[in-house]
Amino acid sequence: MKKMIWNWVLAVLALTGAATAQDGPKVVVDIAPLHSLVAQVMGDMGQPDLLVPPTALPHDFSLRPSQARDLETADIVFWVGPELTPWLGDALPNLSPGAKRVEMLKTPGTFQRMLRDGGQFGGGGEHADESDPHAWLDPENAALWLARIAQELAATDPENSGAYKANAEDAIQGIKELSAEVSARLAPVRDIPFIVYHDAFQHFEARFGLTAIGSVASGEGAAPGARRMAEMRALAEDRSLRCLFTEPQVNRESVAQVFDGSGVSVSVLDPLGVDLDPGPGLYEALIESIGQSIAACQSAG
Ligand SMILES: [Zn+2]
Repeated sequence: MKKMIWNWVLAVLALTGAATAQDGPKVVVDIAPLHSLVAQVMGDMGQPDLLVPPTALPHDFSLRPSQARDLETADIVFWVGPELTPWLGDALPNLSPGAKRVEMLKTPGTFQRMLRDGGQFGGGGEHADESDPHAWLDPENAALWLARIAQELAATDPENSGAYKANAEDAIQGIKELSAEVSARLAPVRDIPFIVYHDAFQHFEARFGLTAIGSVASGEGAAPGARRMAEMRALAEDRSLRCLFTEPQVNRESVAQVFDGSGVSVSVLDPLGVDLDPGPGLYEALIESIGQSIAACQSAG
């Protein structure tokens, strides 16, 4: 009797093993916008794990033990690059020694833009030769990355390569249509300057021809002091700006107080998708919401 049960257990284990193998590779992704692109390419072949929840700031984030375990068993890790998550760059070779590690910023053809350090965007110019890591906010980069994601998944899981390719092609078509819509919506406000909270939207601005003239924070994760805030208010008044865009993780009230009476509206732009559900639909919703927020604030008043 005991032996029979044992045989049954082995049979069940064999079945589950087979089912898992069919489900495609185990994939881990660093941030929600990239996770959304990967989820679109994987489609029915499986769901990627998301490392940094959109409510957290990727620049300095600490992994939970369960996430370290996810990384240990991953077949592929897709990540933006050490410019965005330096902590991950250091940890990845140890945490995921067996995984293929795909750094998206290194994808050939990716539009690279240098961080706008110095002047109205920063302090001492210490980041002057660093690449701006928020490259997913340019939909043309996202389209390039979709094709790369399909290639990498196909190399790991050749059986499903046709499906990965077809999913990527669909997603690229969707991004083209999205870009055209966002571009049309932004056309009327294209030449109206504005200020952002931290210099995260350069890739979006460049793609859609917008003009940010400064950032309140002078670097990644750097909270602005009173003097910096006063400088930005003076700039806003000097240029008769309509809008300053802060971010969901920032205390909007404290920023609004500084700009009270300056004629500047304080609105919110989200580079990561804090209020959106992670998954295939997040990327499109994110780009749409950034376009919508800018158009709405800049065309009011
Ligand atoms: Zn940033």
